[in-house]
Amino acid sequence: MTTALTPPPGRLADRYASAFPESRRRFDRARGLFPTGVTHDTRMMDPFPVYVSHCKGSKKWAVDGPELIDYFVGHGSHILGHSDPAVVHAVQTQMAKMTHPGASHDLELEWGTLVQKLVPSAERVRFTGSGTEATLMALRLARLFTGKPKVLKFHGHFHGWHDYATVSSDPPYDAPGVAGVPDAVSRQCVAVPPNDLGLVERALSHDPDIGAVILEPTGGHWGAVPVRGEFLRELRDICTRHDKLLIFDEVITGFRVAPGGAQAFYGVRPDLTALAKILAGGLPGGCLAGRADVLAYLEPRPGKPKMKHPGTYNANPLSAAAGVATLNQIATGDPCRKATAAARDLRNGFNALFAERNVPWVAYGDFSMVRILPGYTGERPRPEVTGHDGLIPHGGDVNALDGPKNLAQMTALRQAMLLNGVDWWWLGGMTSAAHTAGDVAATVAALGSALDLLAAEGIV
Ligand code: PMP
Repeated sequence: MTTALTPPPGRLADRYASAFPESRRRFDRARGLFPTGVTHDTRMMDPFPVYVSHCKGSKKWAVDGPELIDYFVGHGSHILGHSDPAVVHAVQTQMAKMTHPGASHDLELEWGTLVQKLVPSAERVRFTGSGTEATLMALRLARLFTGKPKVLKFHGHFHGWHDYATVSSDPPYDAPGVAGVPDAVSRQCVAVPPNDLGLVERALSHDPDIGAVILEPTGGHWGAVPVRGEFLRELRDICTRHDKLLIFDEVITGFRVAPGGAQAFYGVRPDLTALAKILAGGLPGGCLAGRADVLAYLEPRPGKPKMKHPGTYNANPLSAAAGVATLNQIATGDPCRKATAAARDLRNGFNALFAERNVPWVAYGDFSMVRILPGYTGERPRPEVTGHDGLIPHGGDVNALDGPKNLAQMTALRQAMLLNGVDWWWLGGMTSAAHTAGDVAATVAALGSALDLLAAEGIV
């Protein structure tokens, strides 16, 4: 097993380039192959991204050799850690049996039953190929059920990349449209700043065409601007009073925050819930779960329109096998508890480091999601105990917490963390049940040494 590199001397960017030469070689090839050279926007990185050969537990290994503590955790899908033995066994066994029967099968029943058992509002379940497809389905069903074309969303909340909810996902949040999306479609999505119930009331009262409200229930971009239970409870009341559907996008929070997601943790029942990521145990897959009378629009009924829904890989047996092996462990509550504890310890460790060094940065976030915010001189958080009620910096202002980013600083931080053996997800990171106290301590030490590297470049 190779351990992290001792950073070579020189400027940070040069150290990074000389520490990961094999990755650079691959990226040079990729540039002639893929637009931007990568296959997902979040993997774009200057001057090149790290290529990874294999992963296990909380670790991933760069093709250049170093072992890295991983805080991408499969874009949030690996709460058990990479290559969990039960998941690997289930998928390998299933692979030899069948990957696509072109027919109904037992594993989809088992998978759907687990979703129904764990997620409080899941009266019915329909599997999709991804989280994007799940929110797409939620919005189309909401239109059919309510007879209203529009949806209300919040600035900075991300619901996948289809045309119908991409408005105001990224700063600047008041930009009128989205590149490539017809204005007529963008206008069907009304976006307001997060956490302001007055604005929600006003929008719902003034625009009779809005039929539903969608949100990430712990806050946009997995908690960059945290949402707390009181807001969810009042939003539920408002939606009920105005006769609107409430849609939780639990693609990240589902099976992460708690076995039943944010809705179970906060005791708030949405009408529809989009799920993906952990749902499929790190393989592709998603589902929409929710009220039977809304999902009934997927069924042919006399006098009612039916929403068409094919999808080659819906409930495919490999994703189902991984999902069942994962959700059976999630049901114990143990993975969510462990991941939350690791993230809480990480936030506490980071904040102690910033305080000790008098660095104007802060760590915050809820559950197993961690955020770092540079350029913060406000009130310092006290060590958290629970993992979900720490200080929210800047009073939760979306533009201060999740506004335009300093890309040069973020890139330098990412490079410095990689040099110190940590793949930190830009300004955030998610933990898994596989992250140990040793990983947390090593990550805090890595950030300490990254701050030195940044200070030497005049970046902190
Ligand atoms: N909703 C949220 C909250 C997400 O974070 C994501 C993906 N990061 C999606 C929807 C889209 O899911 P997918 O990438 O599976 O299409």
